[in-house]
Amino acid sequence: MITPNSGKLTLRGRKNMSKQVIFHEDYYLEYTFDPAAKPGRMEAIMDELSDFTVITPLPATVEDVLLVHTDDHVTRVQNDYDEVYQSALLAVGGVLLAAEYAYNQQPMFAAIRPPGHHASPDGYWGFCYFNNIAIAVRSYCIHKKIQNALIVDFDLHFGDGSNNTFRNDPLVTYYACEGNTPNEFTSNLIDFLAQHGTVDFLAVSAGFDRHEDDWGKLLSTKDYQSIGSILKLYSEDHGGNRRFACLEGGYNHHVLGKNVRAFIEGFY
Ligand SMILES: [Zn+2]
Repeated sequence: MITPNSGKLTLRGRKNMSKQVIFHEDYYLEYTFDPAAKPGRMEAIMDELSDFTVITPLPATVEDVLLVHTDDHVTRVQNDYDEVYQSALLAVGGVLLAAEYAYNQQPMFAAIRPPGHHASPDGYWGFCYFNNIAIAVRSYCIHKKIQNALIVDFDLHFGDGSNNTFRNDPLVTYYACEGNTPNEFTSNLIDFLAQHGTVDFLAVSAGFDRHEDDWGKLLSTKDYQSIGSILKLYSEDHGGNRRFACLEGGYNHHVLGKNVRAFIEGFY
């Protein structure tokens, strides 16, 4: 029997079934000693996403990494601890896979580490090694699959690596979210998107260190859901419905999981 409610239930059921996230067990490994690599951090996220289906990536190749970084840069990371190098390649692989889903119009979040937005073509700092999001976006531009892309970064910190990578690239715009209050933060984002026009691809550097209980002391968990919804609407109307996001910062394990979940609920 068809009732108005049964349709809704079916839809809701389908939506739950399609909840997927990109993750690899090796992201649990403590590859170095910084806040992004701390034990328990990825567990905090994956415990919260326990009802999601996990899609497992392969490590990226050095050829992928060289789309953004210099040979010297790759050698320097390689000469760091081997754990760092392997983890960094696997993080790039996770974001490349997220971009692939996004390209096929399935929104995707990559719960990866190490983060990447402080990694420039020939330098890195700030817990970052390879610029995951930059490599994924550059890969789709270079292979002529997309004409242009927009990177939105809502991490507490400016993604200098992403900005350096695309500063002279007319195909890719980098936008770092700003605002002194939660309302200003979201309204600035809405204003920017309204004037930016249409893009083929939306990539999001999702850092959660601006939460009220994290380093930035500003945004609520609900604000992350709003940001996700704003980006989803923009992507559907002006971005070819192609969008993905990847983890950058976020260091309070007590709130990180629910913030990631809130963002995904808005974004998918
Ligand atoms: Zn940060």
